[in-house]
Amino acid sequence: MILIDGKKISTEIKNEIAIEVKKIVENGNRPPHLAAVLVGHDGGSETYVAYKIKDCEAVGFKSSLVRFDDDVTEEELLNKVEELNNDESLDGFIVQLPLPKHISEQKVIEAINPKKDVDGFHPVNVGRTVIGLPSFVSATPYGIVELIKRYNIETSGKNCVIVGRSNIVGRPLSVLMSQKAINATVTVAHSRTKNLEEVCKNADILIAAIGSPEFVKGNMVKEGAVVIDVGTSRVKSDLTKSGFKLKGDVLFEEVADKCSYITPVPGGVGPMTRVSLLQNTLLAARKEIFK
Ligand code: NAP
Repeated sequence: MILIDGKKISTEIKNEIAIEVKKIVENGNRPPHLAAVLVGHDGGSETYVAYKIKDCEAVGFKSSLVRFDDDVTEEELLNKVEELNNDESLDGFIVQLPLPKHISEQKVIEAINPKKDVDGFHPVNVGRTVIGLPSFVSATPYGIVELIKRYNIETSGKNCVIVGRSNIVGRPLSVLMSQKAINATVTVAHSRTKNLEEVCKNADILIAAIGSPEFVKGNMVKEGAVVIDVGTSRVKSDLTKSGFKLKGDVLFEEVADKCSYITPVPGGVGPMTRVSLLQNTLLAARKEIFK
């Protein structure tokens, strides 16, 4: 069994990006610039945005943080999005989700100029991905495909089962895995799937994006399968200082020995998600998606 090291691969990619940024600056251009919009003080969102800013610094990007209190109106937020759309000093920006209930996330996503939508959530980018045009692909599916490529995992003609059909993970990943460059035969499973155990057992590549800790057990995995664990659930633990532990969707102890490759949690998909946002920002700065 080979443990897929997302941390190592993401560090390699960060180094590659840093070299590119150096070249951009040496050629007399400004470094890529990413902005993050953060509404309220949700602990998880604060942490994610702090990571994004730290990652920008690590590769030499400029970053900006735009903060609003919880009671910002939808109109105020939409006005800010419009301002960022028109800010030529900025290559891309993200609006950290979730937003407070009184604001329509869909409206905000659709207000972002697709050319600056480095989260890849705008329907234009999703649609372009579906028909195989250059697009900003959301960070987690992008990172997973990058991991599979960099480990030279054979995908052509393989049965790929993705458990989960969310707009940010399962569904876009199913599109990428079925594209001609990857050529997997894809099944998307979800909470209404019948005989899930059998469906999963048929997978050469099994990707769990459920959000249910240790849901995938040994009896659901074929010998020699590649297992990608997207899940990150915080569960209480007496063994850590913080009082919680991060658990994946896969019962690692039962599944690992059966696999040819498996991602750990933490240290698998998570770091790849982080670095994919940087990759999208670099693409935005080079105007490589929308020419
Ligand atoms: P989500 O929007 O809640 O979607 C979960 C999906 O799992 C849904 O499609 C749901 O089916 C399906 N599901 C739930 N229970 C199921 C069951 N018993 N059997 C089969 N399918 C089931 O979650 P998400 O945003 O995709 O995230 C999934 C997990 O990945 C979470 O733990 C999240 O924290 C993690 N995540 C990690 C990263 C990372 O960078 N590592 C990034 C994003 C997300 P229905 O559609 O039928 O409800």
